Amino acid sequence: MKKFYVTTPIYYVNDSPHIGYTYTTVAADVLARWNRFIGSPTFFLTGTDEHGAKILESAKKMNREPKEHCDAIAGEFKSAWKKMNISNDDFIRTTDTRHEQTVREFLNKLYTDKKIYKAKYNGLYCVQCERFLVDTELEGGLCPDHKTRPVEQSEENYFFKLSDYRKKLIDIISDGSMGILPEGRKKEILGKLKLGLEDISISRANLPWAIPLPFDEAQTTYVWIDALINYISGCPQNFWPANVHLIGKDILWFHSVIWPALLLAVGLPLPEKIYAHGFFTVNGQKMSKTIGNVIRVEELTDKFGVDATRYLLLSAFPFGTDGDFSMDGLKEKYNSDLANNIGNLVSRVVTMVEKYTEGRIPEGQKSKKLWNELLLIKEHYENLDFNKILDTILKTVDSVNRYIDSSAPWKLAKEKNSKLNDVLSNLCETLWVLAHYLYPIMPQTAQRIWEQLGQAGKIESSNFLLDNKIVFTKVGSVGTEVGSVGKEEIKITRPKIPLFPRLT
Ligand SMILES: [Zn+2]
Repeated sequence: MKKFYVTTPIYYVNDSPHIGYTYTTVAADVLARWNRFIGSPTFFLTGTDEHGAKILESAKKMNREPKEHCDAIAGEFKSAWKKMNISNDDFIRTTDTRHEQTVREFLNKLYTDKKIYKAKYNGLYCVQCERFLVDTELEGGLCPDHKTRPVEQSEENYFFKLSDYRKKLIDIISDGSMGILPEGRKKEILGKLKLGLEDISISRANLPWAIPLPFDEAQTTYVWIDALINYISGCPQNFWPANVHLIGKDILWFHSVIWPALLLAVGLPLPEKIYAHGFFTVNGQKMSKTIGNVIRVEELTDKFGVDATRYLLLSAFPFGTDGDFSMDGLKEKYNSDLANNIGNLVSRVVTMVEKYTEGRIPEGQKSKKLWNELLLIKEHYENLDFNKILDTILKTVDSVNRYIDSSAPWKLAKEKNSKLNDVLSNLCETLWVLAHYLYPIMPQTAQRIWEQLGQAGKIESSNFLLDNKIVFTKVGSVGTEVGSVGKEEIKITRPKIPLFPRLT
């Protein structure tokens, strides 16, 4: 089985974890959970980016030592991810000794191999971006992201021979040996690369809160170079290269040009895929503290619960595009997709089994596979197509609801028709399968469905998704197949609280 290594960007600790970071991290978590479930040795890395002028500044403002400040914010991130049920295998901090050591080794290798040289640099520097901007990037003389005027800076720095890799980068991106997704982003990067590529400065002369260069202690490592190396310093042996670097579209250049060039320079394999997701607005406006439309993650989890929040974040708009959130829109989606659709189906089936067969999953003739379409989800995961995953789930729920309506178990029960057993066993089997496909997105919900179907243990220890093996060959064999209790013992339990209480 192929290994799977997924990363989020490391988040900058001059800010608390907000909904944008949560969006990326939930997406990575869903990918990690899916891959573990299908049996891939999986490693999921996230962490925090802790060096740089801005951090020093934020720490000062709060009257803290920089490290103390970083400890506090890194702690906030850790507990936010715990609350969101994020299953990261490690949490890398750029102030970790293991990371600093890797950065020094990495830079030393570049230096000894003569991929780094010293030169004077004059340029326009954006303090918020923490980088020099080139003329073509400016919009009306301003930084396009921050709408501020960059300042002239002249410094003697060390430079990485980025320009040497232009041709190679164009080749590997064009032929797909390193994937950039969505497709539009790939074109954008290729277009920029064709315009030219300049060497970049990889050090700073007067920045104390950074990693000193191993070959010249008077200079420190440029924060972006420091940050990118986390993907190596936080990666256990045998997991490199990354299968997916999940990022926001604003940091695509660093990940699809500078990072692979650095890897080529030290002779390491390139990441398989870089996926840049879109940005969202709230009620049509960019989220900002000044406008006062910032949605905090706790607002969502308090209102909808953790699982529903995970679902709602991913379902609001297609992953690679920009989109808009509104609390009303989220509530509507919660009610329609989760309360009325998925939640209602589970409760409908469980209630019928309790009522008509004394809570036992009956044996019956399987008439049709209601969950056939769910098998397509595997492919959607490979393409990071979260929208298609969710659509497929909802479509299945729809067709199961139609199946209930057309087979009318309540009539069959009244008539004492033996077909009732066929219908109910079909329905239980379908819920059982559905729970597996819901698990990466809504792990607690999947576990609750699992338990309501009388299954023992954790759903993640089920082998159903391994090697595409369809375990359900015989209706009514639910319990024995998953190696829990025997089928006679399976007892459906109707939950006291619905999975997704309707919100008014
Ligand atoms: Zn800027």
